[in-house]
Amino acid sequence: MSLQNPVFIPGPTNIPEVIRKACDMPTVDHLSPAFAPILKAALAGCRGVMKAERGEIFIFPSTGTGGWETAISNTLSAGDTVLAARNGMFSDRWIKMCRRFGLEVIQIDVTWGEGIPLPRFAELLHEDKAGRIKAVLATHNETATGVVSDIAGLRRVVDEASHDALLLVDGVSSIGSMPFEFDDWRVDVAVTGSQKGFMLPPGLAITAFSEKALAASRDAKLPRNFFNIDDMRATNVANGYPYTPLVGLLNGLALSSRMLLDEGLDNVFARHARIANGVRAAVAAWGLAPCAAASELYSNSVTAIRVPHGFDPARIVTHAAERYGMAFGAGLGDVAGQVFRIGHLGMLTDAMALSGLAVAEMCMADLGLDIRLGAGVAAAQALYRHGCEQMKAAA
Ligand code: PLP
Repeated sequence: MSLQNPVFIPGPTNIPEVIRKACDMPTVDHLSPAFAPILKAALAGCRGVMKAERGEIFIFPSTGTGGWETAISNTLSAGDTVLAARNGMFSDRWIKMCRRFGLEVIQIDVTWGEGIPLPRFAELLHEDKAGRIKAVLATHNETATGVVSDIAGLRRVVDEASHDALLLVDGVSSIGSMPFEFDDWRVDVAVTGSQKGFMLPPGLAITAFSEKALAASRDAKLPRNFFNIDDMRATNVANGYPYTPLVGLLNGLALSSRMLLDEGLDNVFARHARIANGVRAAVAAWGLAPCAAASELYSNSVTAIRVPHGFDPARIVTHAAERYGMAFGAGLGDVAGQVFRIGHLGMLTDAMALSGLAVAEMCMADLGLDIRLGAGVAAAQALYRHGCEQMKAAA
């Protein structure tokens, strides 16, 4: 018999059986009318989940990284200047991609575990009277550190500086699991992938473009081919695709976005918040601390957990996989060797989270850390019982 535990990596996430089945379809002729309802439902579902009623959605066969490339190559020209904070692995990679595209990057270095520094963004935008900065890049949720940054605040900072820069936001590990307001925050390009909050296998880059970003795309000179939004739009309007679409994944996306909207986005976010609170209660009961430097930075989709100095956290990840058949996230980049990560997004219940916490504490105890078995689980249980009561009262 093939037995399988849920995964606790911060993406790809666990796939609900109905979504897996929706992806597994017989071949559909994408040039036939059968493709139209699939594409339309996927686009409409993404618009709903991203709260992008005023945005135009483009879905490419790719991953989050392809979404970044879509955002950059469609809105900017070689030599343009962008402003970005480096506060984790993914903001770092996005900055590197900009440089490869020949963009000038004003890089704000931030200690990993911190959010994006709004006052510094404000200063630099105020100083930029000539409007040299064409785009501000922000990673909403740094998956390497479990840190969420304040995108509404960043919008305010750009507005207060009366600056015209585009706001490009990586929502790869936030969209569909934490509040994300494309329209209200006036994001210009938002980027995500199929394999996190959308609970699908990897394979789709999902982007939303504002009117302003679409206008910028008309003047942008960076080379774009596969990720050309003009080609995508020209074919999408006739319910087609510029090349062979991933029909099964789009069908899965139509269903997964429907499921998120049917659960109610606020309920989805409340579920993630409750599960994350339980994980953090467990971390505290273990006598450990999150990598995120302050409580307002805590991510509800992933927690990076600092281990005692001198202990290699990769051992927990390896031991969990080998001994218990469970996947946790390794530390990445500047915090590799300092943290391991528990992903808690997507299709997850309180009970599933408890199983992850139980295995995490078994691993730490097995490896000689001073962890009392049951301590973290009990802390989370106390909260989940309480949290459920609160949710019932609120309903
Ligand atoms: N941005 C963030 C915040 C991520 O967490 C990831 C992947 O984990 C990426 C971008 C890159 O996405 P992908 O691996 O789908 O290309």
